[in-house]
Amino acid sequence: MKGTTLVVNCGSSSLKLAVFDHQYNRLINGLAERLGTPSAYAVITGNKDTIDISGDSTHRGALATLIKRFRKRNVLGLPPVAIGHRVVHGGEKFTDAAMITPAVIEAIEACASLAPLHNPANLTGIHATGELFPNVPQIAVFDTAFHQSLPEYAYLYALPYEYYQQWGVRRYGFHGTSHSFMLAETARLLNKKLENTSLISAHLGNGCSITAIANGKSVDTSMGLTPLEGLVMGTRSGDIDPGLFDFLAGKGISAEDLHHDLNHKSGLLGLSQQTNDMRTLVASADDGHRLSQVAIDVFCFKLARYIGAMSSSLSTLDALVFTGGIGENSARIRARTVEHLSLLGLVIDSDSNLNHGRLREHHIEHTNSRFPILVIPTNEELVIANAALESVRNAIAPPQSITTETS
Ligand code: ADP
Repeated sequence: MKGTTLVVNCGSSSLKLAVFDHQYNRLINGLAERLGTPSAYAVITGNKDTIDISGDSTHRGALATLIKRFRKRNVLGLPPVAIGHRVVHGGEKFTDAAMITPAVIEAIEACASLAPLHNPANLTGIHATGELFPNVPQIAVFDTAFHQSLPEYAYLYALPYEYYQQWGVRRYGFHGTSHSFMLAETARLLNKKLENTSLISAHLGNGCSITAIANGKSVDTSMGLTPLEGLVMGTRSGDIDPGLFDFLAGKGISAEDLHHDLNHKSGLLGLSQQTNDMRTLVASADDGHRLSQVAIDVFCFKLARYIGAMSSSLSTLDALVFTGGIGENSARIRARTVEHLSLLGLVIDSDSNLNHGRLREHHIEHTNSRFPILVIPTNEELVIANAALESVRNAIAPPQSITTETS
């Protein structure tokens, strides 16, 4: 199908856009931040000039301005054939991308109690593009959908079962688009079928999560009910002892304050007392700042521990894969993490690692390593564009098996 696909990632005060052509080449990216405030601005990626959008700093206003700028660059002269939206939480309802209808909007609203910061913002984006492009099909692509294959024993917390029954308290997992892209890329690079590919995928950005994928299906993942669980992240703590809430209540710190600190003041930032940015942290550690080094050590140890834990969900391993800003760019973090894993037989080749896998086409493992270790750049927008276009294609010409079942 000819034409472009628009990908929209809408946060509470930000908007990210990407446009792909029908062969999935990325044509342009746009970003708007600080929406709803007098310092709102937009920018087209690769262009230094920021666009003042304070006159209309709503999501819709930013979207309209960016689209106008895209058109000046000959992109989106015609409306897109599909609009794909990142939607953070699909609960247990969505195991795949969904064409947006009033019923799907209702279901996304119903999941908002599980992601109060994210789902309402995602819906704002859906409504804004719906107004601008009223006749273009819109598709929701969920962060949680890829993890709906988790077995019950991996998604249940050992809590009173009625918490799950009444309120949906369980592990959902996030970063599904990135982990599914790692699966597709690993299968392609190793020349295997998706359904025969097993890997441990470590997505290390500002948010960090790790997923065990067995024969093409997510079977365990480190994030849980919310994206706070699991690995050490930029400002998030990852796992803590839940007894901390009661302990700190005794010191006068309310649950609300602690929740805020666990999300915004912990992780690399909290430990180092310097920064949540890994690149800056590495520089600071090199300058001799002790707590920066401590933060790096805790980050790598926790990651290694999770890689070990993920192996209990797999019977074979085709590759350990690193992605995200840190995973793709930091040889130091990869090396330090894998140093902990000699018992699993994982060994990194330092030359390949320093070259970020570019010397041996994504591979950074030593010849003595028991398993391949890969560095693969993530491309979540591409996954969303692909899912959106596939949904439109299927709506026009449903796959054969579905036609037969429904006729
Ligand atoms: P997001 O999760 O917001 O998409 P990214 O995937 O872009 O974030 O990852 C951002 C993180 O990647 C930051 O901590 C940044 O410092 C880190 N990073 C990027 N390049 C490097 C590098 N060369 N060395 C170490 N860390 C890096």
